[in-house]
Amino acid sequence: MADDMVDVAIIGAGIAGLTAAWRLRHDDIVVLEADHRVGGRIRSERRGPYWLNWGGHVYDGGTASATQRLLRDTGFESRPVPGNLAGLSMNDKLLLSGRVETFPFRIPMSWRDRASLIRAGAKVRLAVARYARLSKRRAGEDEATRQQRVYDFMNDRSFADFIGQLPEDAEALFKPTVTRSSAEMHQISAGAGVGYFNLVWNIGAGLSHSIVGGPSTLTEGIADALGARVHLGAQVEEVIHKKDSVLVRYRQNGTEREVQARCVVLATTASVSHRVAVDLNDDVRQALARVEYGPFVSAAFLTNETDRQPWDDTYAVATPKRSFNVVLNMSNNVHGYTPERQPGSSFMAFSPAGLARELLEQDDDTILRTYIEDLDAVLPGVASHLVEAEVARWHEASPYCFPGRAKLQPILTRRAGRVMLAGDYLGTQYTESAVHTGFTAAEAAAQVLATERHKRPSAARPPKSTAS
Ligand SMILES: Cc1cc2nc3c(=O)[nH]c(=O)nc-3n(C[C@H](O)[C@H](O)[C@H](O)COP(=O)(O)OP(=O)(O)OC[C@H]3O[C@@H](n4cnc5c(N)ncnc54)[C@H](O)[C@@H]3O)c2cc1C
Repeated sequence: MADDMVDVAIIGAGIAGLTAAWRLRHDDIVVLEADHRVGGRIRSERRGPYWLNWGGHVYDGGTASATQRLLRDTGFESRPVPGNLAGLSMNDKLLLSGRVETFPFRIPMSWRDRASLIRAGAKVRLAVARYARLSKRRAGEDEATRQQRVYDFMNDRSFADFIGQLPEDAEALFKPTVTRSSAEMHQISAGAGVGYFNLVWNIGAGLSHSIVGGPSTLTEGIADALGARVHLGAQVEEVIHKKDSVLVRYRQNGTEREVQARCVVLATTASVSHRVAVDLNDDVRQALARVEYGPFVSAAFLTNETDRQPWDDTYAVATPKRSFNVVLNMSNNVHGYTPERQPGSSFMAFSPAGLARELLEQDDDTILRTYIEDLDAVLPGVASHLVEAEVARWHEASPYCFPGRAKLQPILTRRAGRVMLAGDYLGTQYTESAVHTGFTAAEAAAQVLATERHKRPSAARPPKSTAS
């Protein structure tokens, strides 16, 4: 039986699972992915010089980040998103430049709303400065300690409790930033809401790079390098510890199959991991069941205009009071790096939390009609140049940190047995957390393999060097 055993079975070919598989590529591994494509919540498709995008779009550019380590190792490239990352369209005014602090003075609204917005903005700014300080890695500290401190920050109340009651326009301006986390203001913890403002206001401190050629260039590139070891349409149903191994039961093309592995990297969302890993410790299973995700609806658009557009130099435009709450000019990643304006553009729009819940009730054509009307209101004239548009639905789009989430972290990250968890729900930085936990899980598996190789009979070990 031992001869049929693989070293590591990696479950889920999202960025977390693919990172683990890449790290373990010199071992005997198998990657089981339920879908018929790799990438999970990363999905882009190339169109000429541009790409359509439906999932994760900006990535950690910090040289010490796990994402940059993965990009360096695999030979793919990211570069800073050029231009303005924080435009705003509200109350029939489009702001494509200037600092966010000036927005309350430039958007038409009542003086009552403006005063309330300025007060609330000052409160958030102070909290963002604290968050920015405490989220930095301290000398000699490991990532787990830093991550726990971030979870602990203002984790005793919701962002709505922290910010208090706001008049309509003031709330409308805050909402798109906080809900981009996938949670409503009353669901997300105060600290995580502040963290989201840190992400958007302190560009460069967080997710500010795009992957050249589109994000799927990375996930599909890793899968290509792994070749036949990646099995698509392989839906894992059960993961069970045996004496010195783990049994993985899965269904592929209607047939029940199983594989025995020395270790498993379980890189699915928390809800799937809770369902399939039936014999994890009770407290871990309970913690997995308590992880919260919110939904997104997103859509990608391709246009064919030939002239320069006023928004060519802007990447993100927040869109309060619309069916989506942000429009992303994906083609800015190309326009900003080429001397001559090439024809066409690519945009992505998305609706998180409550906006997504309403849209998920509707069919794709209805969603597109609503989106196109709003897109044209935000970026006038775009609708007349549309050549392609497609919707994506994400029921578990993003995990969010709710009041009390911090207490789950030591349970979820405690290592026990041969099943190592990975995925974005184990951290607060989305793809960066997914990649980081993918590496960590793979390294834990590599340690188990190394220890056991050492214990196994000499025939199974690499020959000893005779030099000494
Ligand atoms: C619209 C949108 C925009 C986003 N924007 C950003 C952004 O700009 N920056 C950022 O950092 N993050 C962003 N995110 C979040 C980011 O995409 C995720 O954090 C990240 O992709 C999660 O990776 P993962 O590997 O942990 O999980 P996933 O990508 O969900 O991978 C899990 C994989 O497991 C597979 N699977 C599920 N069940 C089974 C089973 N039973 N057997 C086998 N396989 C199974 C799934 O099919 C999937 O491929 C965005 C997400 C969305 C939806």
